Amino acid sequence: MSSRSERDKAKQLQEKCQSVLNALLRDEDNKYCVDCDSKGPRWASWNIGVFLCIRCAGIHRNLGVHISKVKSVNLDSWTPEQVVSLQQMGNSRARAVYEANLPDNFRRPQNDSSLESFIRAKYEHKKYIAREWVPPQLPKVDWEKEIEEEMEKQRRKKKTGE
Ligand SMILES: [Zn+2]
Repeated sequence: MSSRSERDKAKQLQEKCQSVLNALLRDEDNKYCVDCDSKGPRWASWNIGVFLCIRCAGIHRNLGVHISKVKSVNLDSWTPEQVVSLQQMGNSRARAVYEANLPDNFRRPQNDSSLESFIRAKYEHKKYIAREWVPPQLPKVDWEKEIEEEMEKQRRKKKTGE
């Protein structure tokens, strides 16, 4: 059985995840799909740490969850760890890592089949990856504690009638 305050806490946690994600999407770094450059991505691969358009998100799904874990920014529920993974990486840094050895004259493919080949080469075969790159450790995230403290503060305010 979950109590009312637990439900409130879960709700606030989701709200916080959403607001951080929306802020990330407004960031210049994440305004274009990391793979095909189309405008206004609304999907993300949280383990890779990138924002994607719906078409590339579909291709990432086909790679399997051992390579890419895809979610809708607005339709799915998120955990703080997943959000922090996106915060740590983001599209610009991900390009620096996964496209370090992309030829200078490379043009991003636009049709579905060549886009899929590119995405497979990039993440499955890591064809262009920066050799020296080591995936970062995820920091421990404790948003729950922050939210609890905030709720406690609110409760106390109500009590004292401030
Ligand atoms: Zn795309």
